[in-house]
Amino acid sequence: MTRERLYLFDTTLRDGQQTPGVDFSLEDKILIAKMLDTLGVDYVEGGYPGANPTDTEFFAKKRTAKAKFTAFGMTKRAGRSVANDPGMQGLLQAEADAICYVAKAWDFHVEVALGCSNEENLEGIGDSVIAAAQAGREPLVDCEHFFDGYKANRAYALTCARTALEAGARWVVLCDTNGGTLPDEVERIVADVEKIVPGDRLGIHAHNDTGQAVANSLAAVRAGARQIQGTLNGIGERCGNADLVTLIPTLMLKPDYADKYETAITQDGLAHLTHVSRTFDEMLNRAPNRQAPYVGSSAFATKAGIHASAILKEPETYEHVPPEKVGNRRRVMVSDQAGKSNLIAELHRFGMAIDKADPRLDGLLADIKDREAEGYAYEGADASLELLARRRLDKVPEFFAVEGFSVNVERRFNAVGELITHSEAVVKVNVGGERRMSVAEGNGPVNALDLALRKDLGDLNAMIDDLELVDYKVRILNGGTEAITRVLIESRDAAGHRWFTVGVSSNIIDASFEALLDAITYKLLKGSTGEPMTAAAE
Ligand SMILES: [Zn+2]
Repeated sequence: MTRERLYLFDTTLRDGQQTPGVDFSLEDKILIAKMLDTLGVDYVEGGYPGANPTDTEFFAKKRTAKAKFTAFGMTKRAGRSVANDPGMQGLLQAEADAICYVAKAWDFHVEVALGCSNEENLEGIGDSVIAAAQAGREPLVDCEHFFDGYKANRAYALTCARTALEAGARWVVLCDTNGGTLPDEVERIVADVEKIVPGDRLGIHAHNDTGQAVANSLAAVRAGARQIQGTLNGIGERCGNADLVTLIPTLMLKPDYADKYETAITQDGLAHLTHVSRTFDEMLNRAPNRQAPYVGSSAFATKAGIHASAILKEPETYEHVPPEKVGNRRRVMVSDQAGKSNLIAELHRFGMAIDKADPRLDGLLADIKDREAEGYAYEGADASLELLARRRLDKVPEFFAVEGFSVNVERRFNAVGELITHSEAVVKVNVGGERRMSVAEGNGPVNALDLALRKDLGDLNAMIDDLELVDYKVRILNGGTEAITRVLIESRDAAGHRWFTVGVSSNIIDASFEALLDAITYKLLKGSTGEPMTAAAE
């Protein structure tokens, strides 16, 4: 039986950017686009070229290999031609495969927000779609406030959708912009629209204001829509967008959908979903939701209790899908077995072959568990995990030994009465039996420490000349009686490799120093052995 194709449209970098506290840098956007492309979504909507410098630069070149790189913007303004609308021109010049226009579909908004006539709005939709197609871009139209518009003026909402379709929009996307529509309404309204816009040209963009964005997306699919828009981990304005991380496994593993539809995500892509979700949370500097469907660390955790033996014998009777399908793992509190096979898979990824029966594996697993209990998180710090594993199972040379360091932060008024803060670090290291002492000033204590540490490592300096710290994140964990600080550092080299390291301590400087040491040691290890940087992302 041939299955119908469902298209996944990711808007993490555009609608997800509306999340309070989320502001992606250009570097973040490049990394996330790559991650989404590898995962296998069909469209990556990157932002709003022309609206801000970051998005304009992001669209200076195509950022995806497979997924359609999509620019977002408004339809042509009333009273202007496409050629005379600077917003449209910015959009048409962006290096994108597709352009997704946002269009008003509710007559009330046309009047209040656009201040133009209903006809002018329709003309804007039609002309914009044609302009995109003429520029060689695939046109899409997001019909904003579609469901509220439909309830207020069904005829006009449908005319907007028909206008987009007839002008040549590849997809007409129905947006539940306020997020208040319920699944049965979505199903009914999408089925009605489907009489005008064929399902394979119809999309759904749901918000989570009633906690049902995923359910609404599935309702739209049942009614005929074949494109789903959503974000990683459901980020987005207010209560967020439809969570692709929940939708993808539902579509691929639940027979009601999996038997009828296929997506571009492979089983291998699905098996990386947990990793993608947690890496994304680390990038946002927030703790992953333990209870997230499919990918949360508690999603397949069972407290054995009186059912211990039954769970151990037949764990699948307690699980709705096999956790390894989504790259998660079973956690039955009385068994280590699942953790071990997961660890072996990680070690394979690092290029380390180890037999399942090797007793050192138990030691390493115990080590990781102890450290995780102390506050370490290796989901987002692959390079530190690889170092830990190699120290136990392989060997890591001691390239240098730090004998001690001191950091001084001074806040004072300078000669002209300005308040200044001055940071200086002194590091004593032993490199190949030779003692060296370096002093450096930085714009903060960690920066000063980093500069001092790397200032003079003798011959080793040649191997780390191109090392650059690109991100530094601090999280305070409330464990037991004292607050623990976890520092996550992202480093990069000239070849474009990026790797993540972690440090944990009750002292922020100590935690930072530990993550810095791992970052440098990882680079030295790979430089000295010539092995590929398997823990690093390209
Ligand atoms: Zn939205």
